[in-house]
Amino acid sequence: MKNGKAYICNVCNKRFPFENIRYSIDGKRILCIVCHNKVMEKQEKKKQAYSAAKEPLDSIKLVCLDCKYHFSIRKGSKVKLRCPYCSNSNLSKDDLTAEKLIEEVSKI
Ligand SMILES: [Zn+2]
Ligand SMILES: [Zn+2]
Repeated sequence: MKNGKAYICNVCNKRFPFENIRYSIDGKRILCIVCHNKVMEKQEKKKQAYSAAKEPLDSIKLVCLDCKYHFSIRKGSKVKLRCPYCSNSNLSKDDLTAEKLIEEVSKI
């Protein structure tokens, strides 16, 4: 055997030949290909979740149920929610489908 040295994956603790070993992103650990792929997948998902969660952080879309005026407010705003058009506080989040919206409205 030319290269009999086995490397131990820091995640699953199994032995692997060098060609099945990858370094972790920080370079401090060695991982087998399977664990490395899992870690990369997790990282990717984390990134996606972060960027997806980042969008609606700034504003919330609202619709006035009385006059159907669409507007958005800053999230975390302490101001009492009122329609800027008719000053009514009968508001709904503007992420409803048209169908749901009709449902909501017909209830009133
Ligand atoms: Zn592993
Ligand atoms: Zn209104």
